[in-house]
Amino acid sequence: MAEAAGYQCGYCQTQEIVIGMPLVIDHIIPEAEGGTSEDQNLCLACHRCNEFKGSQTFADDPETGEQVQLFNPRTQVWSDHFAWAEEGVMIIGLTSVGRATVKALKLNNEYIVRSRRRWVSTGWHPPQD
Ligand SMILES: [Zn+2]
Repeated sequence: MAEAAGYQCGYCQTQEIVIGMPLVIDHIIPEAEGGTSEDQNLCLACHRCNEFKGSQTFADDPETGEQVQLFNPRTQVWSDHFAWAEEGVMIIGLTSVGRATVKALKLNNEYIVRSRRRWVSTGWHPPQD
């Protein structure tokens, strides 16, 4: 399982090796919404992102109010839609998709921000990829 060292959440990039808990399989389009269990509809996610996402596939961009599809870790590139701020403590949405996803999945919730501050101070975060 050497490659497991590289496992990270498709949404918040939290690394499995850092949190010490297995990531879960996220259905990008939830099964309840007709999503399949084929590879193209699956990604690794942390528990929190998976829970906050729930059955959502769309969310509002807090800047424009426009409803957009949530970030798709399979078909979109993380760095096109998000950037790290404060050296890796905060995730900034660069696009409508990024901003809507940051808000809907609470990518900067107080618990993860608290942990990221520690990880950043030790060089464990953000992941280098
Ligand atoms: Zn996550």
